[in-house]
Amino acid sequence: MSNLVVAIDGPAGAGKSTVAQLAAKELNCTYIDTGAMYRAVAWKTLQTKKPVTDELIADVVKDIQVELSYIDGKTQVKVDGTDVTGEIRTPEVTAIVSQVAALGPVRVKMVELQRQMASQSNVLMDGRDIATSVLPNANVKIFLTASIEERARRRFKEMQAKGYDVKLEELQKDIAARDKADSERKISPLVQAPDAELLDTSHMNIEEVVSAIVERCKKA
Ligand code: C5P
Repeated sequence: MSNLVVAIDGPAGAGKSTVAQLAAKELNCTYIDTGAMYRAVAWKTLQTKKPVTDELIADVVKDIQVELSYIDGKTQVKVDGTDVTGEIRTPEVTAIVSQVAALGPVRVKMVELQRQMASQSNVLMDGRDIATSVLPNANVKIFLTASIEERARRRFKEMQAKGYDVKLEELQKDIAARDKADSERKISPLVQAPDAELLDTSHMNIEEVVSAIVERCKKA
């Protein structure tokens, strides 16, 4: 039997990584969080302490080593050997990640790594362009979304739990800005693939979303 390849795309805060991680565990797939890879490049760019320009980002990505491992159902991210799993989720990284991810040299390097990882086992990969560009032959394609208000609420709770002092309205604005940047960029924009199934999770809880994904994959 050939490998199971599941592609999940969708806008910021749709809950992709939460449900993808759980669904991958149930399906015995390796989970690949591609957003974490773009965040890793953004994190390294910020470490230079220089003004963030496209030239700087292109320079940083030239010799970056991004490693993603999936151990006991959790993703670990390393940049040049340093564990940055927590650091890539800060508001500072989030603020520049869409700029980083829009650049050709960054996408070429990350997509190559993503395809390489996908060829090694059953995989469930999430991101923005997985079904449309990275793995167009995936067995299952899901476009996961929720209303902007609900996505902002979910992100708000997540950030509060991490101890960040955030405002719901600000978060909603940031998410809308990131969606716009991701959807309007020239290379591999965020868009639902014509053959992807839409899953609107606005009124679903985590368990319901996970079981919808798992059921769909079992039919593949
Ligand atoms: O999924 P997450 O919110 O962590 O992704 C961070 C950013 O990385 C997105 O806003 C987007 O700009 C970029 N991204 C992308 N392509 C992917 C995954 C993420 O451009 N496949």
